[in-house]
Amino acid sequence: MGAGTLTIDLDAIVANWAALDAIAGAGVETSAVIKANAYGLGVDVVAPKLAAAGVQTFFVATAEEGLRLRSFVGDADIFVFSGHMAGDTDMLTQAKLIPMLNAPEQVTRHFSAAQGHPFGIQLDTGMNRLGIEFGDWHALSSELMAAGPRLVISHLACADEPDHPMNERQLRTFHEMTDGIASRRSLAATGGTLLGSEYHFELVRPGIGLYGGLPFAEATPVVRLDIPVIQTRIVQPFETVGYGNTWEAQVESCIATISAGYADGLIRAMGENAKVYAGEIACPVVGRVSMDLITVDVSHLEAVPDTLCLIGPHQCIDDIAQAAGTIGYEILTSLGDRYHRRAT
Ligand SMILES: *Cc1c(COP(=O)(O)O)cnc(C)c1O
Repeated sequence: MGAGTLTIDLDAIVANWAALDAIAGAGVETSAVIKANAYGLGVDVVAPKLAAAGVQTFFVATAEEGLRLRSFVGDADIFVFSGHMAGDTDMLTQAKLIPMLNAPEQVTRHFSAAQGHPFGIQLDTGMNRLGIEFGDWHALSSELMAAGPRLVISHLACADEPDHPMNERQLRTFHEMTDGIASRRSLAATGGTLLGSEYHFELVRPGIGLYGGLPFAEATPVVRLDIPVIQTRIVQPFETVGYGNTWEAQVESCIATISAGYADGLIRAMGENAKVYAGEIACPVVGRVSMDLITVDVSHLEAVPDTLCLIGPHQCIDDIAQAAGTIGYEILTSLGDRYHRRAT
């Protein structure tokens, strides 16, 4: 087998959802954010598993994602973060998706194109990315609240830094904008869920924590990636390995070439900061990551195994992310489609 094997532990995803649900506590619904193909892990396998575990509310980024999700989750609620865009109306109504209206133009569009169809509202409390702004909300809120939104949300910019003053500032703004409304509210993604109960309101919406990533440090790992060794060779002192001759042997070394590269989402920038594992034993990546191949120093192994492990018990998605100067979210959503994917 030339391609790596990506193993996705669905029970671990359910366990992470249940752990976050326990943190959210009684009276707070724990939904699941399943945008970007369930953070790259496969909405076709992740969504039915979560629905069977009792998740009743899902969030996706676009109406197209919601349309695809609908067939996997029965009649669960599906909210669409991008709201009601031009051209979305048929998808929203046919698949019973609930757009999170995020600007006055979307409000106008929704009320003229899909009068009576359920909607939610996203407010901007300072992130300045998506959501109705303070002044517009002031003008629109009575009309919108009269139509009975299913949910009113906002999103935290700095929730992965618990001591960041932005968290409290956004919490205060969210209260100012929404206190007294007759609608369920939601402010917390994974980070906000961990900030404490004052951030939970009626519903929390974790994504990354379900899939085993920071800031949910206690998460059960979800992903394992094993990559076959295609070839091994002995290189002599002063021989180089890979593009650009960036690595030069100082002593006689055994180099294994494994079958995955940046086209499979193993970000080139991680380069020699990353390791792969033969069981318990770390083996350094040497030379540049290429499109389909990575070279590894296995000189210290007694025997070279058939596969080496890049994501697993000894190196999680956030370790790889750190090596590449990025975040676990990007590692997960970059994982390519050449792997043999096994959901267990
Ligand atoms: C992606 C997203 C989430 C989930 O965030 P995580 O950090 O992955 O838990 C929640 N709410 C909104 C608005 C999002 O865009």
